Amino acid sequence: MGRREIFAGNWKMYKTREEAVGLVRGLLEGLKGISREVVIFPPYPYAAEIAAMCRGTVISVGMQNMHFEKEGAFTGEISPPMVKDSGCRYVLIGHSERRHVFGETDDLINKKVRAAFEFGIEPIICVGELLDERENGQTGQVLSRQIKGAFDGISAENASRSVIAYEPVWAIGTGKVATPEIADDAHREVRNLLSDLYGRGLADSTPVLYGGSVKPDNISGLYAKDNIDGVLVGGASLKADSFLEIIKVK
Ligand code: PEP
Repeated sequence: MGRREIFAGNWKMYKTREEAVGLVRGLLEGLKGISREVVIFPPYPYAAEIAAMCRGTVISVGMQNMHFEKEGAFTGEISPPMVKDSGCRYVLIGHSERRHVFGETDDLINKKVRAAFEFGIEPIICVGELLDERENGQTGQVLSRQIKGAFDGISAENASRSVIAYEPVWAIGTGKVATPEIADDAHREVRNLLSDLYGRGLADSTPVLYGGSVKPDNISGLYAKDNIDGVLVGGASLKADSFLEIIKVK
């Protein structure tokens, strides 16, 4: 299909500075000769240093979240220009922990997506259903609400620069990976929703990553699926060996 493939690691709120720098060194060493696109999302305080270490390599750096305003009295938040200034190319928007632990709504997520494009940051937009939503047959509805919400008012030109991560909430950090078939079906659904909004061409060229308990021993089956263009990895991206094994999947 010729879509971009991305192998992304979300470090969440883990690692000391020393551990973070050590992990990046290990990744850079292990990625010598590899041309795959890798994105890491370190904790905010280390992003600038890590972005500087990764400049000119296959690793890009992103922030795990940001506010949508350019600046203001928003204690504890970081702005899009700060994300840019730190040397980050990407930002994660709407990660399930932001939606379900911190109460981010589709409306707020849309504001952040708009802000990302306004400031030239590429958003990786996370969507995915809760376990009871899947069990009640509501996965399609949830994905539709989240995709339509995230892209409300976004031009096709901007939308063409986005990446989607399908991350079923029941699979994140639980060790319960979605089967390749479940993930592939959901990715097809995401693409159909993008096609309804922007047409088949854009839908077919947008990378859709899978996230949720991806490990070295389950990556092959997922990666073999047509609609899965890479992965967003949490736990297994915290160690160079396991993340490198995932990135090097054949
Ligand atoms: C994530 O944080 O996006 C994630 C998928 O975590 P894990 O791989 O640990 O399930």
